[in-house]
Amino acid sequence: MYAQVLVEIKAKNIDKTFTYLVPKNIEENIKIGSRVLVPFGNQKIEGFVLELEKNKTFDYKVKEIISLIDENPVLNEELLQLGKYISKKTICNLINAYETMLPTALKAKHNTTINKKYVSYLSLNMEYNEALNHCKNESQKEIIKELIQEQKKADLNKISLSSIKTLLKNNIIKEEIKEEYRLNNCIEKQTTDIQLTKEQINTIDTINKENNFKTFLIHGVTGSGKTEVYMNLIEHVLLEKKEAIVLVPEISLTPQLVNTFRKRFGSNVAVLHSGLSNGEKYDEWRKIERKEVSIVIGARSAIFAPFTNIGIIIIDEEHSSTYKQENNPKYNAKDIAIFRGRYHNCKIVLGSATPSIESYTRAKLKDYELCLMENRINNEMPKITLIDMKQEYRTGNTILSSLLKEKINEKIKNNEQIILLLNRRGYTTITVCKECGYTLKCPNCDIPLTYHKSSNTCRCHYCGYGAKKLIACPNCNSKEINDSGIGTEKLEQYIIDNIENSKVIRMDVDTTSTKGSHEKIIKEFENKNYNILIGTQMISKGLDFPSVTLVGVINGDATLNIPDFRSAERTFQLLNQVSGRSGRSTLKGEVIIQGFNIDHYSILNAKNNDYDQFYKQELDIRKKLKYSPYFNLCLIKIKSKNINDCFTEGNKIVNYLKNKNMKDTIILGPSACNMPKINNIYHIQIIIKFKNTENIIKELNYLNELYRLNKVIVDIDLSPIRI
Ligand SMILES: [Zn+2]
Ligand SMILES: [Zn+2]
Repeated sequence: MYAQVLVEIKAKNIDKTFTYLVPKNIEENIKIGSRVLVPFGNQKIEGFVLELEKNKTFDYKVKEIISLIDENPVLNEELLQLGKYISKKTICNLINAYETMLPTALKAKHNTTINKKYVSYLSLNMEYNEALNHCKNESQKEIIKELIQEQKKADLNKISLSSIKTLLKNNIIKEEIKEEYRLNNCIEKQTTDIQLTKEQINTIDTINKENNFKTFLIHGVTGSGKTEVYMNLIEHVLLEKKEAIVLVPEISLTPQLVNTFRKRFGSNVAVLHSGLSNGEKYDEWRKIERKEVSIVIGARSAIFAPFTNIGIIIIDEEHSSTYKQENNPKYNAKDIAIFRGRYHNCKIVLGSATPSIESYTRAKLKDYELCLMENRINNEMPKITLIDMKQEYRTGNTILSSLLKEKINEKIKNNEQIILLLNRRGYTTITVCKECGYTLKCPNCDIPLTYHKSSNTCRCHYCGYGAKKLIACPNCNSKEINDSGIGTEKLEQYIIDNIENSKVIRMDVDTTSTKGSHEKIIKEFENKNYNILIGTQMISKGLDFPSVTLVGVINGDATLNIPDFRSAERTFQLLNQVSGRSGRSTLKGEVIIQGFNIDHYSILNAKNNDYDQFYKQELDIRKKLKYSPYFNLCLIKIKSKNINDCFTEGNKIVNYLKNKNMKDTIILGPSACNMPKINNIYHIQIIIKFKNTENIIKELNYLNELYRLNKVIVDIDLSPIRI
């Protein structure tokens, strides 16, 4: 028997498979999708078996497979097909597509060292008294006493290893090796009696009626009870003995949601996200593969959970950009969900308070079925007030407006809680010499450095470069150095200094770098040890604190300044999401949004909580400017240490594409990216707007192949989430 094996090598045409002879001893166990170790040149490398051929002869000498790595194939029929789909859809190598679907421990790479975790259990091999009689010393007797009641984990720190060995050798005790999962998800199931609202019941009924592949979009305001709907839908699917995948944007930010699921479904839930160690991920993956759980909840990559009988795939906060992977393969979990939904003939449920323009358009076109949930369960929507900071500046308020300050004081007095969003970390965001205008910038990225007071350094948020705080200007020696711009650190300091009885906790990248720190901050705030939570956008999603009655947004219009066609959409989403944290329980909520450009339609519509009006206005602009959903986009980034090389190759590519005269296609560039230089690498971009993928895919594949081994990096993204 011969096998066609896909391996990872840096050469042209790498999707080619290589033929190997299957040794007799593994003929029975080798399957399509198995991982094998093969000789390649003078190396030994791992690869995936893509085909098996029985009756074939070769007129050259075929090398033999060295060994079969796993008992069962790591890629099943569905995942094998899915890899081909990803490879085609995102223009990536087939082997990269397969590897992205597997946990690190199962990737076809050399030196994988993640293994199953085994624990040794000891127990008596005879009656207690008899065992005691056999003991030669006190240490052995201690061990027997330890083991009198039950099997125990052999804890080598506490007991003498040599005594155990002797007892084992003499058959007085016995050892059993058991595999143990690193994560223990055991939470007591809690039964709850929840009265569903009419809207929840309608949505559940509509979706449960469907038995075939179909995509639903739940457009439900913040606090309308989408999570409860998801759990009901899953219960229905479990009754049919099917499985459920639930995706959330960033699981470490939403520990409350995971807990809610565990309380409902107990140990039937596996969790997959980037915060887990490789060993933990491997264990969770195997719980799924061995069918020990029927539900997986996780971030983007959980979409590849190796379930074989999926009944429903739920994507919460479907508008979130985290569902798109920005490295190769640049897949979008929503596309993968739809592929798997078709394969399993199951339902897909997308949920959001602010659906992406693209998804909402599909719903309008009846491609998706729209389910509306327009009311909160417990309360009405919070009242939102806009504050023009241009006016406030005149009265000397540069950080907090008088109204926001007044409201914060009021809430603290009432023993209620406050969330303040400022989407910028650090203390001050720009350092300028007053004399000559010199700005302190990152030498690698050419952008202003942010001053961090806690570490007393100026840092680049792109490449990590750090510099000391300026005492004198390096250009003119003046000591008149001005720090301006405000980050979360400075806001925290300001609140502590200016608001009486404030107890502030801050959540941003700087305070959450250690494992478990998100959960800790959330717990502390939940337990009301603090009355103000300050944070960047990571506090805008999914959090649910019943005592929060005020949300304040500082610089609510800052995201509008990012030159990306989705800036307005992102601003609307962010303001809507963070506003949704206020007044979620029975207490009435308020929101105050401060900004300089508060007349922008994204902010006005956020204030009125008017998604439909926002959608209409945004769609008009997209149509005029020929952006999605009217045109598809492709972003080609060209990266090099040498900016001239970037433009030379960029112009070559543009000319090549223009000469092809592709139908309904607009080619823009080459031009500098928003961040033209990161870590000393120059970035330039070409944007292609097109109607039909088929028209351009051949040319993109050609370019991808052409530049594969070039010193200039050409990076193609067929559905960019950021420009
Ligand atoms: Zn100067
Ligand atoms: Zn930098």
